[in-house]
Amino acid sequence: MSITPLMPVYPRSKVRPVEGDHCHLIDEDGTRYLDFASGIAVNLLGHSHAGLIGAIQAQAARLMHVSNLYGSPQGERLAQRLVDMTFADTVFFTNSGAEAVECAIKAARAYHQHAGADQKFELITFTNAFHGRTMATISASNQEKMHKGFAPLLPGFKYAEFDDLEAAKAQMGPNTAGFLVEPIQGEGGIRPASDAFIQGLRALADEHDLMLVFDEVQCGVARTGKLYAYEHYGIAPDILATAKGIGGGFPLGACLATEKAARGMGLGTHGSTYGGNPLAMAAGEAVLDAVANEAFLAEVTEKGERLRGRLEQFIGNYPELFAGVRGKGLMLGLMMKVESRPFYVHLRDNHRLLTVAAGDNTLRVLPPLVAGDAEFDEFLEKLSAGAADYRAEGTA
Ligand SMILES: *Cc1c(COP(=O)(O)O)cnc(C)c1O
Repeated sequence: MSITPLMPVYPRSKVRPVEGDHCHLIDEDGTRYLDFASGIAVNLLGHSHAGLIGAIQAQAARLMHVSNLYGSPQGERLAQRLVDMTFADTVFFTNSGAEAVECAIKAARAYHQHAGADQKFELITFTNAFHGRTMATISASNQEKMHKGFAPLLPGFKYAEFDDLEAAKAQMGPNTAGFLVEPIQGEGGIRPASDAFIQGLRALADEHDLMLVFDEVQCGVARTGKLYAYEHYGIAPDILATAKGIGGGFPLGACLATEKAARGMGLGTHGSTYGGNPLAMAAGEAVLDAVANEAFLAEVTEKGERLRGRLEQFIGNYPELFAGVRGKGLMLGLMMKVESRPFYVHLRDNHRLLTVAAGDNTLRVLPPLVAGDAEFDEFLEKLSAGAADYRAEGTA
């Protein structure tokens, strides 16, 4: 047998972390890495946050899981907090980002079908989007590399150029149910949509009674200095998918919706065995306890500006490698003039610095939100050393 026990779908590196320490990961052989990937925008609080660990330990000892057949004081509490702090009136808890997007897609379709408009099932999505790896969420992305081998795709998605309002308009028709968009694309290369685009989609949705669905799985939960990125745009979506950071490392996601948008999601229309179980709720509450306050959010904004300023200064030394910095808060991308993936591997293997490569030759910089100047200093040191010997090697 040549297949590995772990289904070989990931190009796994030689880094094999077994322990976390604040903003560092420690490998099987004791090597320390500075973690500016955060499990891809998951470990908001770093790796050894006492509040998060304590909450999970205490809840694990008390009650881990019960069926959604029973009342959920734990779920009601976290849902109420999310409702109080966002546009939403109601919340469905999931175990992952893709499941949160699935619920969002179902809610958008059900909104129309509940009112008898069965033909309105199509969501307009955008180029280089990433919405997850289930059949519906790969169908929602135009990226063919994710489709290969999995035909037929789920019908009901049309792709338009990201950040191009006219292109979105051109895809609208009698079957349109709404728009599904990442306000700041993550996998696509840390690309924030313009205000005009997002506000334009909101206006189109209002005018034509369509659902505006945001995928904030990567950009949500304080990452950009707001609890959710939609707040940067002065509008609110009808439905929003959140995950990654919301559990701080515990598998948790949620689909948030207004009362109107959730009108099709009545009794028996959706479900999840694990979704919203007490252990996950405890993790979610501990994360909100830490991040969902003005002081913490202002700190993320301020740290983001500081890190961005330092990155902008740094890239000036390497004009042949870097084209610029983009993003919001601590969701930053270094735009590279060369392929970003080999450089990310170089930083990881030769400088023990973990980042993430993304589309459009971007290097994603996603530190834990609790990182501070000590970690930024170490990051810039490793990045500078990495850029210097990358250039010297003539790789660039
Ligand atoms: C990661 C991600 C997803 C999928 O989340 P999973 O937890 O891997 O299912 C969906 N949308 C966006 C924007 C993401 O970044």
